[in-house]
Amino acid sequence: MKNYQAPNQFLANKIIMVTGATDGIGKQAAIHYASYGATVILLGRNTRKLEMVYDEIEGLGYPQPAFIPLNLQNTAPEQYQQVAEVIEKEFGRLDGLLHNASDLGLLSPIEHFDEETWFRVMQVNVNATYLLSKYCLPLLKKADKASMVFTSSGVGQQGRAYWGAYSVSKFATEGMMQVLADELEKTTIKVNSINPGATQTKMRANAFPGEDPQTLPTTEAIMPAYLWLMDLEQLESHGQAINARDFLS
Ligand code: NAP
Repeated sequence: MKNYQAPNQFLANKIIMVTGATDGIGKQAAIHYASYGATVILLGRNTRKLEMVYDEIEGLGYPQPAFIPLNLQNTAPEQYQQVAEVIEKEFGRLDGLLHNASDLGLLSPIEHFDEETWFRVMQVNVNATYLLSKYCLPLLKKADKASMVFTSSGVGQQGRAYWGAYSVSKFATEGMMQVLADELEKTTIKVNSINPGATQTKMRANAFPGEDPQTLPTTEAIMPAYLWLMDLEQLESHGQAINARDFLS
């Protein structure tokens, strides 16, 4: 899938929600989807940052976005149900859902891993993703074709010392994607995961403080894979772990 060229305005009239849309890859993906015509629903925990991304998209003349403040540390299922109810009321369906938000937690041997941090990472990266998937599935089923994308990581495919809760949560993410893909085999919903690979973001800098970010691809450089996964007219991939690096030119 190298050299994928997204067709002009191919996301016109599509409704796509991006979690963790306030920074890094999620923010870039939201702006990119909007630039191709999508109405994006920005989900994040920081209202001020949500408003800034909203203003940026509006200022660029792209379709008016929407935003939903939600901290994914929140464990109450009703909060996630309400997100789906708001989308149902405003838009009636969802064409795409990019599960992008994640909590890195901290790097530590499991023997000494801080318990509170472990639970928080599992809540944000696994439980919240499950709850949002569960309540948004009826909305995705209302679209002619839909795409759900889970965000993985290299340490979600091969365990690595000290990556603790984050690594385990990404294995769970790959598992959730595979289970859901199997369940939705006979539907019009495509389910895949994406591993962005090392990318210039705040999370990467926190994990590798000594690394020169300039040596890494930018969030913009990895967007072809993110666009391809929302190209519902062409997308046949289902139940697959996609590497954004395979799309780099
Ligand atoms: P990032 O720059 O740190 O952005 C993470 C986003 O998630 C931010 O919008 C952040 O909100 C949001 N978020 C975190 N905790 C949240 C919570 N409790 N509730 C709601 N939103 C929350 O990270 P990134 O590098 O773009 O990562 C994006 C995805 O790619 C993640 O799933 C990550 O695991 C994956 N990934 C990244 C790399 C890499 O090298 N960058 C490599 C492999 C995988 P705030 O703006 O409020 O902080």
